[in-house]
Amino acid sequence: MSQRTGFLTASVCTEHDTGMAHPERPARLTSLLAELERSGLAADVDRIEAPPAPLERLLAVHDEGHVRAMRAAVERGARLLDQGDTAISTHSWRAALCAAGAGLEAAERILSGEWRNAFAAVRPPGHHAEHAQAMGFCLLNNVAVCARALREVHGIERVAIIDWDVHHGNGTQHAFEHDPSVFFLSLHQWPHYPGSGAADEHGSGEGEGTTRNLPLPAGSGDREWLAALEEGLREVESFAPEFILVSAGFDAHAADPLSGTCVTTAAYARMTEAVGALAQRCAQGRLLSMLEGGYDLAALASSAAAHLAALRGV
Ligand SMILES: [Zn+2]
Repeated sequence: MSQRTGFLTASVCTEHDTGMAHPERPARLTSLLAELERSGLAADVDRIEAPPAPLERLLAVHDEGHVRAMRAAVERGARLLDQGDTAISTHSWRAALCAAGAGLEAAERILSGEWRNAFAAVRPPGHHAEHAQAMGFCLLNNVAVCARALREVHGIERVAIIDWDVHHGNGTQHAFEHDPSVFFLSLHQWPHYPGSGAADEHGSGEGEGTTRNLPLPAGSGDREWLAALEEGLREVESFAPEFILVSAGFDAHAADPLSGTCVTTAAYARMTEAVGALAQRCAQGRLLSMLEGGYDLAALASSAAAHLAALRGV
């Protein structure tokens, strides 16, 4: 078995039109894809079109009335879903379904042994999406939908989600903060949008101890982020996950307009290697990353390419 690295995207993901001057724009994906072609990486991975997620998998994370209302809003031509930052257009519902479906498809191929690991370059992103609220450019919580399917459909006992987007993954934390079977680790700028993710938020009830937030100040760079990741990964390793998901935002990059942090492209390769090594030690190498943020087109493209190249080398 070749055990190649999988790469998923969906053409409809570039048709999710957020309007003029919106940072979460189709060009994010087209520039990322162009960089993979230019670098030759595109030919070195097993690339497939992401299928739409089935409704029942969305409802394992999201409120049914809310999901139906979002779909109806798209179908009636609405342009905004929440207080003003989550824009939608004609193709947004289909794009959201495929963004969530990418994770489900990749998880199956990794579990079957067809793929060693995978990266899903999809949009809209997911980690701010709450149980019954679209938020922060996110419609459906792609990584949460995948984690829950790993537990409920595939019987994976322990799943870890590592979120290195510069913004706290509030939606993902809320989905699993009571759940001892899913460990959520988040590195993020603090204080910053969305406001959650303080160091003393560590889960509750049965989920006490399986949420770990490592807030980092504006101005922090490679040294601080790599050290925090190393610290967080030690806890993830004690949890002994059988599958590792990454909420891979690249907006902590020094060039990103939505953050004050100074992470470099090279650091994303090192972060990927660290997570990949952990996956090899405790999860049979099972590792799937899903694109979240990243708003400087060149920095996003180079960082995602460095990430994918590192995944191939795991
Ligand atoms: Zn972000």
